[in-house]
Amino acid sequence: MENCIFCSIISGDIPAEILYSDEKVLAFRDVDAQAPEHFLVIPKEHIATANDATDESIMGRLMITASNVAKELGFAEQGYRLVMNCNSDGGQTVSHIHLHCLGGRQMTWPPG
Ligand code: 5GP
Ligand code: ZN
Repeated sequence: MENCIFCSIISGDIPAEILYSDEKVLAFRDVDAQAPEHFLVIPKEHIATANDATDESIMGRLMITASNVAKELGFAEQGYRLVMNCNSDGGQTVSHIHLHCLGGRQMTWPPG
């Protein structure tokens, strides 16, 4: 989709530190990391928000990919947090769904 930052990362028009890529999903480091480890997993198909997601398999794939990448990076055993923000109250700033994976430090609860 035009004017979508994450579609531009998928097409290679905007550079990113890619951690994993296959025909369905892409994982790359967040440019503004909120933890020592912070990457995003996105579908290669443009889906704007969690409210627009209808394909269970792609949503599951985001989760499995996140845990696989966390294992590869070596912090899965210590743990991590998976977050998908939705729309304005959820704090979503990029309208292409993305699963955050944050790790490398103790997370707190409740989230801000
Ligand atoms: P949201 O607030 O929508 O849940 O998360 C969007 C995330 O995308 C933010 O954590 C932000 O740092 C990240 N982000 C925004 N633009 C870029 C970019 O151009 N490259 C990368 N790697 N991350 C981005
Ligand atoms: Zn997009």
